Amino acid sequence: MKYINRLVCFALILVTGFANAAAEKPNFIVILTDDLGYSDVGFNGSTDIKTPNIDRIANEGTRFTNGYVTYAVCGPSRAGLLTGRYQGRFGFGRNPYIDPSDENSGLPLSEQMISEVLKPVGYSSSIIGKWHMGTHPKFRPNNRGFDHFYGFLSGGHKYMPEDLIFNSIAEGKKPFDWYRTKLLRNDKRVDITEYLTDELSREAIGFIEEKKDDPFFLYLAYNAPHTPLQATKEYLDRNKHIKDKKRRTYAAMITAVDDGVGRILAKLDELGIDDNTMVFFLSDNGGVNKGFSENGELRGHKSEYFEGGVRVPFAVRWPNRIPAGVDYNNPISSMDILGTLAGITQAPIAKERPLDGVNLMPFITGKTDEIPHDVLYWRSFDKGTLALRHHNAKVIAGKKEGNLLFNLDKDISEKSNLYKENKKLHNKYYQELKEWEKELIDPIFKPLKAHSNKK
Ligand code: CA
Repeated sequence: MKYINRLVCFALILVTGFANAAAEKPNFIVILTDDLGYSDVGFNGSTDIKTPNIDRIANEGTRFTNGYVTYAVCGPSRAGLLTGRYQGRFGFGRNPYIDPSDENSGLPLSEQMISEVLKPVGYSSSIIGKWHMGTHPKFRPNNRGFDHFYGFLSGGHKYMPEDLIFNSIAEGKKPFDWYRTKLLRNDKRVDITEYLTDELSREAIGFIEEKKDDPFFLYLAYNAPHTPLQATKEYLDRNKHIKDKKRRTYAAMITAVDDGVGRILAKLDELGIDDNTMVFFLSDNGGVNKGFSENGELRGHKSEYFEGGVRVPFAVRWPNRIPAGVDYNNPISSMDILGTLAGITQAPIAKERPLDGVNLMPFITGKTDEIPHDVLYWRSFDKGTLALRHHNAKVIAGKKEGNLLFNLDKDISEKSNLYKENKKLHNKYYQELKEWEKELIDPIFKPLKAHSNKK
């Protein structure tokens, strides 16, 4: 009996030993920008907006030329990123409305966010910036696996310290007064002294310094360059070469983000942890249709399912671990961030919540010739739009858009609708979309517009 016990022990040590050998605990930083146009970073060809620090992530890492988000506006896109799953599976099919007394309007507690997945394998997590995953106390970051929160709960915010006057969302008298709340550090309201983007960068650096010796996950969700267009004189002066006032202000907001990214990369280097830190950079959706942001040759904008709404600037850097200065061209998704982090750390994923995202490491390091996703899907419940990308084929079927079929290899700008010549093929894809849609549920909260914000 003793012998058998010893044998079992030995076998367990072997198994555990092997498992530990394969798991790694690098730090993870996800830098998310808000409404940043596809071509408004240097690494995607911008010439008037300079982003030398953001470009380092692509130049010293891998640029995704076909990097997608799961929805064309903020809230649902972030829900997909943070859970690694199509957010329609759990009813996050529209922007949540902003009401701290509402117990439905947020990311269901039955789901797990990156922070919650990484906690059991020893990570400390921080969200700095825009939350947008629910304002009721039960939905807030500190209840979702984040040890540290510095930012705001709603979908946007003003940038100047003097504008932030409310001590709670409930103090606001009209919609979008929630843009004027003071920031929260965990559950305490705080006054800020700097331009908001600089505040968020400074806090991020503080978190990195504090956690440098332990594995951390930092979700730095800048609200820039989301409206309102507001920038300091310093950042505006650095963009004097841009004549259009709105674009100059938008550019100045991106300059502030770029400075923050530069300070963060310098800090990683200074602390000697840059080789042990994987940094993602992306936007939550495409640039808006207001004339100041640019999606390059991509058709469409934020809130649309043309490429300009959902294909975003996207890159990842992990020195000495992933290829530097190369492009990865197969379609990937923001959902793959959690797939990758779980793959690297071997953090367990619950069987009842299988990820739609995958571990990108084997793909971007060339360990496999397979592709991460045969198909990517989108649905806007409110617009009645379904869309799909299968290899080079892009399908959109919507009340407003009608039936569209494009070959992205030949027509990245989605100009030539091939539907008439390929009705059968379109119909096949449409049936596939309808099958996928059966796995989704209706949105579990009311639309933002339906909320009168009387509270
Ligand atoms: Ca957005």
